[in-house]
Amino acid sequence: MKKLLLPALASLALFHSSAHGVMIVMDYSNDTFFAGNTAARNALEAAAADLGAALTTTLAAVDADVFAGVNGSTSATFDWLYTYPNPTTGATVTIEVPRAAANEVRIFAGARKLTGNTLGIGSSGGAGFGLAGSGFANQWIGAVDAAEAMSNAELNRGGGPLMGILSGSSNFGGFVAEYDLQYGALGGSISFDLDTDNDNDIDSNAELNNFWQFDHTTAVPFSKFDFYSVALHELMHALGIGQAVGWDSNVLGTNWLGAETIALNGTGTGIIAPDGAHPKDNLTSLLLNGLTSQEVVMSPSLTNGERRLLTQLDLALMRDIGWDTVAIPEPTTTVSVLGGLACLLARRRRRELPVH
Ligand SMILES: [Zn+2]
Repeated sequence: MKKLLLPALASLALFHSSAHGVMIVMDYSNDTFFAGNTAARNALEAAAADLGAALTTTLAAVDADVFAGVNGSTSATFDWLYTYPNPTTGATVTIEVPRAAANEVRIFAGARKLTGNTLGIGSSGGAGFGLAGSGFANQWIGAVDAAEAMSNAELNRGGGPLMGILSGSSNFGGFVAEYDLQYGALGGSISFDLDTDNDNDIDSNAELNNFWQFDHTTAVPFSKFDFYSVALHELMHALGIGQAVGWDSNVLGTNWLGAETIALNGTGTGIIAPDGAHPKDNLTSLLLNGLTSQEVVMSPSLTNGERRLLTQLDLALMRDIGWDTVAIPEPTTTVSVLGGLACLLARRRRRELPVH
């Protein structure tokens, strides 16, 4: 009997190690829309699961946002807050840094009237801190250094993108303590348009159902915009595309400097949109199956009748900003055939709406 148990345990352990992914937890505490629209919620949850499964970074838990460093009789304390746009109102919300289990990122979801043709908005939020202390001036620098080290160890999450850096200095009695406080993926916020006819009123359910393809399990009719595709796009913004320090450091005008994307695409020159926060319109890449070509999820606009799945280039951008992702399979000879079909489909492009 023991002989049977050992291999069973070994394979169980292997299964767990290969099943790692990032758990993108949708938080509906600000929401007034998804509770009444199961199909939209299912599409959002599916996008979160699909994106999370493609990310293999190990994130440390976040269970503190106050970090007190001690040096002799002196203490210095960084006390953090996290801010994000309320997805239902757009107003800035300030809270304690969301506590997160290992490999977990919390994204606040909602919907509201978005101006113009915008389909959705995604944000990684922001963070700020207060610094307080007590003790002796000549011990101040050491105390701040200790608090800085604790803060960076916790809020960088041990992996993933660098989302923000707050640098500065604090003068205590002539002793100047300098700090570089870094934080990683702490959370995010995404919102979807509920005023699709731009009459400054929330659309009726009938209007919303005519505009949005909520059901992610059925094909997108030519007349509709795919909710799943927008969800995937906004979630990737919340996880750093167009927002992280690791994004900004790779953008030079319309050029992308990240090695992963350049290796995949052949060049980074001219592939960034004028807004500096997206790859350019109409950029295509193979899907993760290596078979089908498609306009990338992070394109600044979405075409009616189109469902976008994660492409290899979307994941290369994620790697360039600091995420680890699933391996991409080698392309096969089927590529050219299916790529041709995708090109034909792209010619049906009729109406593009921006995603932000
Ligand atoms: Zn966008």
